[in-house]
Amino acid sequence: MLLDLFVISDQIYPMTNSFALIDPFGRHVNYLRVSVTDRCDFRCVYCMAEDMTFLPRADLLSLEELDRVCSTFIHQGVKKLRLTGGEPLVRKGIMTLVESLSRHLKSGALEELTLTTNGSQLAKHAADLVKHGVKRINVSVDTLDPVKFKQITRWGDLAKVLAGIEVAQAAGLHIKINAVALKGVNEHEIPSMIRWCHGRNMDLTLIETMPLGDIDGDRTDQYLPLSVVRAQLMDQFTLIDNPYKTGGPARYVTIKETGGRLGFITPLTHNFCESCNRVRLTCTGTLFMCLGQEDAADLRAPLRASESDDLLHRTIDEAISRKPKGHDFIIDRAHNKPAVTRHMSVTGG
Ligand code: SAM
Ligand code: SF4
Repeated sequence: MLLDLFVISDQIYPMTNSFALIDPFGRHVNYLRVSVTDRCDFRCVYCMAEDMTFLPRADLLSLEELDRVCSTFIHQGVKKLRLTGGEPLVRKGIMTLVESLSRHLKSGALEELTLTTNGSQLAKHAADLVKHGVKRINVSVDTLDPVKFKQITRWGDLAKVLAGIEVAQAAGLHIKINAVALKGVNEHEIPSMIRWCHGRNMDLTLIETMPLGDIDGDRTDQYLPLSVVRAQLMDQFTLIDNPYKTGGPARYVTIKETGGRLGFITPLTHNFCESCNRVRLTCTGTLFMCLGQEDAADLRAPLRASESDDLLHRTIDEAISRKPKGHDFIIDRAHNKPAVTRHMSVTGG
């Protein structure tokens, strides 16, 4: 087959894919997650140690630089962009970034701009998110018990998060609740969380805890396989497989009794790496091609080296050409060290 070719700087690209990002396994990368800050106003026990050392502020990309990198990815075919962290809503001036990125929604180049938040600052920002074209957000709530919530998040206040969710729903945002399944902590609360979410028109997604970064405790104590949760839920609910997809890694069922959707993110018991369409950018401009591998590409140097985006384009292409096949997460007594040293808050959940 003859392909038309075109040239950017010294690189030759086939016309058919023009800017599409295709990895060595034929997967089309069209989803970028951006950790806009690694800082957070909570200290969730599975995510961080209480006494965290954060990335030096001097290394952060400015909001303008983050916009430039995101825009380059969008020109290269990214259709879905999720702002995350750390806690994205504690980054100073974050709404300026949301507002400037919304131009890509208006032009149709970007299909979805969304964010994952702990909800602590949601009441303050919900209306602006809607104004700038955000339609759906994920809010992380692992328990509806205020005492347990404090134990899990160490610094969080459940009442404030629930108030934020109410304001966000009233502003018109669709909300999905994310909950990390934690053995002996929220394990027995999952049925009531399903009823609570579905009674408020919110999906619920359960997540298996992943071995990322050193935390104060032992992950083997926290890890609850979702295969176990699923079997327990089948004692009281009818789970019907649902083909619904959001572009993320969750697989969904409909709960017949509530009519709502329940998602499972199962990196440990059943990984879906073969369909991975994502890469992750840190707030210092490091691109991770896989959440569970150390290999990374520095985008900050090419970003700052030239006012043109050509070099950035080429660095992104080169990075995607070595996206690994998948992660190798294992949590058991013999493997209770993190798979990678960085925390989820650095790479962006
Ligand atoms: N601060 C925001 C929040 O909590 O929603 C966004 C960042 S947080 C890192 C994104 C998601 O990752 C949250 O749903 C959180 O529960 C989850 N998470 C953090 N550490 C995790 C880990 N080690 N394993 C699995 N999920 C984790
Ligand atoms: Fe903060 Fe989110 Fe990590 Fe909790 S999970 S410590 S809210 S970044």
